[in-house]
Amino acid sequence: MAEKTLFTKIIDRELAADIIYEDDQCICIRDINPQAPTHVLLIPRKPIPTLAKASNEDKALLGHLLLKIGDIARSLGVEDGFRVVMNNGEKGGQVVFHLHLHLLADKTFSDDSL
Ligand code: AMP
Repeated sequence: MAEKTLFTKIIDRELAADIIYEDDQCICIRDINPQAPTHVLLIPRKPIPTLAKASNEDKALLGHLLLKIGDIARSLGVEDGFRVVMNNGEKGGQVVFHLHLHLLADKTFSDDSL
């Protein structure tokens, strides 16, 4: 069996994390090294390594994650302005190879190059 990812260990409560939401498909935790005053990670329970490796069978799950990001933004009171980031692959800045979305807020991003 493949070794558990860092995020699967958090999902399985083998590692501690600040969990702010979970359901049968995903979990949301506060990032341990926040890049904005609000920085959470939305992680599917299914350990898809990267977005590029997601398949057609993950369509509903990916839709769920995007809709849930909106719900979480509302629950955190940041729905008026936030950024969603998915790093993909080493060259894309991904460090944990278990697909996840970053939700960043309470910072002005309009000056950034992206
Ligand atoms: P990425 O570079 O897209 O793979 O992002 C991985 C993110 O996971 C980084 O923002 C890290 O700060 C975050 N991270 C790593 N370990 C933990 C942890 N134990 N709890 C919460 N966030 C973590």
